[in-house]
Amino acid sequence: MRSLLFAANWKMNLGPSDARSYLATFLKAYAAQPNRQVWFFPPAVSLEAVAMGLGNRADVLAGVQDVYWEPKGAFTGAISAPLAAQAGAKAALIGHSERRHVFGETDEQTGKKLAAALAAQLHPVLCVGETLEQRDSGQTLAVVKRQLAAALGERAATARVTIAYEPVWAIGTGRNATPRDAATVHAAIRAWLEQHGAAETRILYGGSVNLKNAAELLAEQELDGVLVGGASLDPQAWVELVRTAVA
Ligand code: PEP
Repeated sequence: MRSLLFAANWKMNLGPSDARSYLATFLKAYAAQPNRQVWFFPPAVSLEAVAMGLGNRADVLAGVQDVYWEPKGAFTGAISAPLAAQAGAKAALIGHSERRHVFGETDEQTGKKLAAALAAQLHPVLCVGETLEQRDSGQTLAVVKRQLAAALGERAATARVTIAYEPVWAIGTGRNATPRDAATVHAAIRAWLEQHGAAETRILYGGSVNLKNAAELLAEQELDGVLVGGASLDPQAWVELVRTAVA
């Protein structure tokens, strides 16, 4: 049976008390399913509440949405990978499109963040994806490969990384890639990973995934799971999404 990862990016939503009541609902409604993992990426202020609330469940874990590359010091407002790990993070989103396009993060910075997450024993989820202009000008695969190379480089084979393909034009917009479009890019990412000795790396799809489209996306064998923003914010709806029956 295929193993699937369902990752919830809460973005800048759900503070510590919201997170505690979300988890109370989620944990009551959701029993572990065979071959399914659920990863939560709450805002940093809620990380400890989520990590503690999840307790010892082996199928669910908490991660941080971003890390700074330095381990500690005079970097007001930033959170390092070791600090996130101390708050209970086991994973880290790296290079999310909002970090790249709202906060101006470069490929080089994304690479430094990925290295920092690995050094702190976190499981990085490296987000890659093209803008609409890049897609319309036929640059999708070149952009995605450039982002992979910049962040992973020759480390791909040794890194404990999950890739999330998230076309920028599909995030939070209600537009999503067709399952075939997503699978085509996933196949190109898979080919790049194979060339770099990392054939086993998981590849998630993200971009306006919801209860209506999850089943047809996950029917594509190229997808090892989904990274979900908006549709992960309601605990009942998220439980239903994580339980999606897959052909
Ligand atoms: C995301 O935040 O990674 C994401 C895919 O958001 P949404 O599901 O809201 O498009």
